[in-house]
Order: sequence, then C-alpha cells, then structure tokens
Amino acid sequence: MVDWDVFMKVHSGMARQGPGDDASTERAYRMIDAGDAPLIADIGCGPGMQTRKLASMGADVFALDFFTQYLQELRAEDPSIPLIQGDMNSPPLKTGLFDIVWSEGAIYIMGFKHALRQWGRYLKEGGYIAVTEVTWLSDDTPCELREFWESGYPAITDIEGNLKTLREAGYEPLGHFPLPEKSWYEDYYDIIRPKAEAMMEEYSGDDDATKTLQAELDEITLFEKYSDFYGYVFYIMRKDSA
Ligand code: SAH
Repeated sequence: MVDWDVFMKVHSGMARQGPGDDASTERAYRMIDAGDAPLIADIGCGPGMQTRKLASMGADVFALDFFTQYLQELRAEDPSIPLIQGDMNSPPLKTGLFDIVWSEGAIYIMGFKHALRQWGRYLKEGGYIAVTEVTWLSDDTPCELREFWESGYPAITDIEGNLKTLREAGYEPLGHFPLPEKSWYEDYYDIIRPKAEAMMEEYSGDDDATKTLQAELDEITLFEKYSDFYGYVFYIMRKDSA
C-alpha cells in the first residue's frame, strides 16, 4: 500500500511536482495570441512554478489544485496569485470565462481525452488550452516500458494519437514540442532522488514506506534507461468556434 504521508514528505518543498521548466512554459505561452493579460486557469498547479512564470509574463492566473499543501507552498512564494482548492473533475470555475486553460503534468489524472472534453466549457469562444502529456516518442517501445505505462496509464499514445484526440475533442492544434530531458531532472528527479534515498534508511523496516520510496526511485531509473522512448510533450490548441 502507498504510504501517503511518506509520499507527501518526499514531495514537499519542491518547486514542481512534475517535469517542466520555465523556458518551455514561455515557449508554449508565446504560441498563443491571447492579448496582453489573458485570464488563465492553471489546473493541477501544484506548488506553482509554471503559475508564477505565467504571472511574470503578464497573465492573470488563477491556480487550482486539490491539495492544500501545494497551494500553501505557492502562496508562500507569491501571495498575490489567487488560489482555488478544488477537484479538476468538477472545478469551481465559471464557464465561458477563461482565455486559456493551462495544465502541466496533471491532465493524465483525468485522462487527456476526457479532460479536453470537459475543460473546454471554461473557455471563452476561441479560447486556448496548453497542456503537457506523457507521450510515446518512438515506434518501437520496449516491452518493459510499455508494460509499466500500460498498467498505470493505458491511454498513453504517440504524438499523432494525441493530435487526433484533440481534434476530435473540438480543438485545432497550434503546435507541440517535447520537453527537454533536463526538465525531468533539474527541479524534479534531482530533488526527489537524494531525499528518497535518505528516507530509505530512515524508514528501513517499514514495508509500506520503503515500497513507496522504492516506487519513486524505480520511476527515475526507468526514465534514465528509456528517455529516448517517452517524454512529456506540450500540446497547444485552440477551441474550434461553435
Ligand atoms: N503543474 C504542477 C503539478 C503537476 S503534478 C507542476 O507541473 O509542477 C499534478 C498535480 O495535480 C498535483 O499538484 C496534484 O496535487 C494535483 N491533483 C491531483 N489530483 C487532482 C484533482 N483531482 N484535482 C485537482 N488537482 C489534482
């Protein structure tokens, strides 16, 4: 069983809760022409590194997450960003209000297809969505890797598959690009790994805790081995006019 206290301890005090980097956030933002101060809903914001980057570029961002710990961490960094505690499945957001729905490393929680179909309702006519989604980057995915992802996230597909899904959900693709490999390490795995290793000793003998920590370390090992075959891809899209 996952030890959620241990999980939250590993993940506390980090700038991010998934792969990403400021340059990629900016690159995606520049692909959108939504005026000077677009209204953005950042869904699954976590501690909000991308939220703060968007705000620094002039956007008017509302940050939504389920977990108050992350919202508190974001507030400590920038008390001026409005926070919303809520579930992305039924977010307490006004329909038809936002220029952009943003979500880095979080859309998999609802599933790419389902979330795109749901979140469009919060956009103004012709609004935009920018998300990162874990994606196959090669045609010949090794078995071990395929089994790992298909047990945890069976909907994982390649870029063409995701572009097809987003078109079918009523969006026009404006661009996509993979996150650089370093954005998995710098603010994410490089922080998690030494923490998880140190906690392995602290919690030795505690089965659930060590299994939880080992799962974190195994995920990093898998990425080191197979990063040519999968990665996060940014997808930027515009909602079709009705
Ligand atoms: N966007 C951030 C966090 C990504 S991790 C970043 O890139 O750093 C995924 C985030 O989704 C976590 O912060 C987690 O707390 C949040 N989350 C998980 N389930 C959720 C739900 N049902 N509704 C809203 N947020 C959720």
